[in-house]
Amino acid sequence: MKKRNIVVTPALPYVNSRLHIGHILEHTQSHIWASFQKMRGHNVKFVCAGDSHGTPIMLSARAAGVPEKDYIGQINKQQLQTLNDFGFEYDNYSSTDTETNKKFVYEFYNKMKESDAIEKRTIDQLYCEKEQMFLPDRFVKGTCPKCGAEDQNGDSCDNCGATYSPMDLGNPRSVTSGEKLVVKKSEHIFFKLNNYRDFLKEWLPAHTSKEIANKMKEWFNEDLRDWDISRDKPYFGFEVPDEPGKYFYVWLDAPVGYISSTAEACAKTGEDVNDYWKNSDSEVYHFIGKDIIYFHTLFWPAMLKVSGFNTPNRVFVHGFVNTEGEKISKSKGNSFTLKSYLDNLDSQYLRYYFATKLSSKPNDIEFTFEDFMQRVNSDLVGKLINLGSRGAQMLHKNFAGKCSEIDPNSSELINDFIKASEEIAGFYEATEFSKVTTLVRDFTDKSNQYFDSLEPWKLVKTDPEQVQKILTTLLTLFKTAVIYLKPILPQLAKDTEDLFNDTPYSWDSLGFSLAGKEIKPYKHLMKRIDKKQIEAIRNDASNVTKSTKAKDSKAKKEKPSATPKEISIDDFIKVDLRVAEVVKAEHVEGADKLLQLTLNVGEEKTRNVFAGIKSAYTPEDLTGKYVAFVYNLKPRKMKFGMSEGMVLAAGAGGKDLFVISPDKGAKPGDKIK
Ligand SMILES: [Zn+2]
Repeated sequence: MKKRNIVVTPALPYVNSRLHIGHILEHTQSHIWASFQKMRGHNVKFVCAGDSHGTPIMLSARAAGVPEKDYIGQINKQQLQTLNDFGFEYDNYSSTDTETNKKFVYEFYNKMKESDAIEKRTIDQLYCEKEQMFLPDRFVKGTCPKCGAEDQNGDSCDNCGATYSPMDLGNPRSVTSGEKLVVKKSEHIFFKLNNYRDFLKEWLPAHTSKEIANKMKEWFNEDLRDWDISRDKPYFGFEVPDEPGKYFYVWLDAPVGYISSTAEACAKTGEDVNDYWKNSDSEVYHFIGKDIIYFHTLFWPAMLKVSGFNTPNRVFVHGFVNTEGEKISKSKGNSFTLKSYLDNLDSQYLRYYFATKLSSKPNDIEFTFEDFMQRVNSDLVGKLINLGSRGAQMLHKNFAGKCSEIDPNSSELINDFIKASEEIAGFYEATEFSKVTTLVRDFTDKSNQYFDSLEPWKLVKTDPEQVQKILTTLLTLFKTAVIYLKPILPQLAKDTEDLFNDTPYSWDSLGFSLAGKEIKPYKHLMKRIDKKQIEAIRNDASNVTKSTKAKDSKAKKEKPSATPKEISIDDFIKVDLRVAEVVKAEHVEGADKLLQLTLNVGEEKTRNVFAGIKSAYTPEDLTGKYVAFVYNLKPRKMKFGMSEGMVLAAGAGGKDLFVISPDKGAKPGDKIK
């Protein structure tokens, strides 16, 4: 087989945000894929880096009172440690703030200039006089230009779901200083993305999944907007050459980190980075979440195209992880931290669990402890580990750890398992990992049945020679399964290599014979998950939730609250409030904050309402619930359809949103007075 040069990357974790279970999913997916390619004998660079620039980092470093370099250096180290603790091994893990990355960023910029893909333009932006800086969208709040709701985000409204430019907000203020913002002009540098529209339109569907290509199609209905790639000082990033006071936007230099990290990996082995990024035979694969598709399927390939680097062979996109904690954190606080997981459980359990859920489709994954325990205890420990522990322990007890020929009656079972190797390799190649775990689990199932049906623990008294063969068969099946699962369970593979006195397994290790081989005494490979371990993680999590809640409420209290203006009873009765029953609640395709509710308001016809409460409720939480409802609110046309009324809720927003419900006895349609 021809050796391929392959670069594999997860997205670069942002240094200013906490690593969470979604990162573990992404690194699991990309690491499994990279490890599989290594097992097949290819030249693989599995690289990553901390995404280390931008305003949030600058402000956090200021708040912590340390230079930005120190701040990112420290967090980058912690993040890498956590990732290593989960068993991820990189050929290089860098930071986007290195000299190597700067050199590549300048190369990109010069090529863009040479290709006439750069343009300067003066734009209006919100500026904070007090902080003496232009503020990005996420640091701006104000009144929604569509519905008039106060205290809305810089780019979208939680109340009505509208999206807009922060320039359109009424009464814009700084999130950090609370200061009123002014409009100021500034010259920015733009990348003329539309120059590459035809290229991207053709490239995109061929290099990502059907689902993603369909989702992105609408962008090509119009011209692609130019991309603003500069930010004014103060900014933490690389200064633009010959443009004092202007810096590259963090999203320009972040993906270049894929290349600079590969260059550092190549420097370690004496290879040339161009053999991975400029040679037409080499291959590049990115694994990303569905929230950053735009950057990876439009800006990034266009940048690579301009600069003469290879464009990605494939951008693999995964969904989000919904943990049960997010659903029930309000009552029990069950979301968990990575640290509490690692303190209590083997990292491989989570890798295995994710593998059983991962396919080539960008579907969300519902994580529940119940399902997690079931998969690990029943499939991984109960079926796979069971083969190894029974086989090895009995072989040592009765035959001093010495293997024989296999049981001749089992050769079909073994051959079938070996014959599946190219099918399994195909599943790995196509990122259909759940098909790998299902296929291997079915074989381990059959292997246990084979063993149980022969009752070797009885047979050993009358026909020990046959039992030695049965045990050798069992261990052959076990070792084959471990080789197949090595990309998913690297530590188990190492421990198994040790048990059998083997060198590291590759795909070529399949089809081995154990005849005459002596194995080491069995040591524990993996244990079942105990309910107590799950409880410990849950308890840790509720402590975390409680303490952050306490902090949040303190921050809120410090905000001055305006005294509301008094109204007369006549004003009040203008609002027709009624009890409504939630008949149906659903997610809204493309809306991050909204749920679509079908309400019974005591009339023949139901009402359709879009409510911005997705951050705190799932559809299941709401179905069947009675809620307080504004009956005579003028219907509003929203992006997703008409909203006919409003459901009332209390709380600060985010997870702290509480729908108002009547006491028992109230009926749909009852007036609230
Ligand atoms: Zn609004």
